[in-house]
Amino acid sequence: AANMAKSKFDYVRNFETDDTCLRNCYIVVRLDGRNFHKFAEQHSFTKPNDDRALELMTRSARSVMEELEDIVIAYGQSDEFSFVFKRTSTWFKRRASKLMTHVASQFSSSYVFYWKEFFGEQPLLYPPGFDGRVVLYPSNRNLRDYLSWRQADCHINNMYNTVFWTLVQSGGLSTTQAEDRLKGTLAADKNEILFSEFNINYNTEAPGHRKGTTLIWEKRDEISTKRTTLPGGEEADVAVTRSRRRVHAHRCDIIGEAFWAEHPDILEG
Ligand code: ATP
Ligand code: ATP
Ligand code: MG
Ligand code: MG
Ligand code: MG
Ligand code: MG
Repeated sequence: AANMAKSKFDYVRNFETDDTCLRNCYIVVRLDGRNFHKFAEQHSFTKPNDDRALELMTRSARSVMEELEDIVIAYGQSDEFSFVFKRTSTWFKRRASKLMTHVASQFSSSYVFYWKEFFGEQPLLYPPGFDGRVVLYPSNRNLRDYLSWRQADCHINNMYNTVFWTLVQSGGLSTTQAEDRLKGTLAADKNEILFSEFNINYNTEAPGHRKGTTLIWEKRDEISTKRTTLPGGEEADVAVTRSRRRVHAHRCDIIGEAFWAEHPDILEG
């Protein structure tokens, strides 16, 4: 074709470096909101967990999974989301920069596109950004440990934030006083403060706050009604069951064996 003709400038293409991801590894892309501490403040996120923001993150991650190929699981908490491409993926010839930028831009544009569904009339004050990185994990154990690491991070931060904001919002402490009160405390101490002083059982706090959100593809039966014409000629609604593959959200432990035993197809081989 005429537009394939070479020009004397074509040599510059050779300056592009190879960033093909090693074969047979899971490709993880992790996004994190840029300066979301400030973003949360400016958009009056409720502390410690703004559910509108968490649901918008989840909605955007769902869009990434639905629009891009080969993502088998995604895990999110706070202003971050990790996406795992299956080991055998050949999408974009496994080029790291292509995969990462497609994930980041699909996510960012979705965050803006769906903002209104979660924040209603509250305006989005400026365009948010997300950084991305690519990490390769060669074994199922490594990948599970990666996801466990993110969920453990969610747990530690959420426990701290829950006690901190309870001390401030219900205990009347200033933020500095709450910070001092929590210095050097262990998980057991934090549980104790919540329970004995505020009658809060941490384990019954919202699962989405404690565990983050895990998105996977699942085939489930769905019942819908279909209008059909009966032999007699009259119209009627009949129930039709069909199995559909969709992205489903889980807010459960993914560190232990149970989740993986229930969904053995996520990790092949
Ligand atoms: P960086 O650009 O380095 O990532 P950052 O300000 O985004 O800086 P993070 O460590 O990513 O820092 O922390 C994200 C911050 O965003 C949290 O500490 C919290 O203040 C805020 N945040 C994110 N999501 C929520 C939410 N759903 N509810 C309340 N606050 C949130
Ligand atoms: P890929 O995802 O591989 O990039 P693509 O369809 O985006 O596929 P490109 O080679 O990037 O392919 O070409 C972009 C195409 O978008 C153009 O060929 C043209 O059809 C269309 N396009 C982009 N900008 C304009 C524009 N301003 N006016 C009209 N058409 C446009
Ligand atoms: Mg950060
Ligand atoms: Mg951030
Ligand atoms: Mg973060
Ligand atoms: Mg293009």
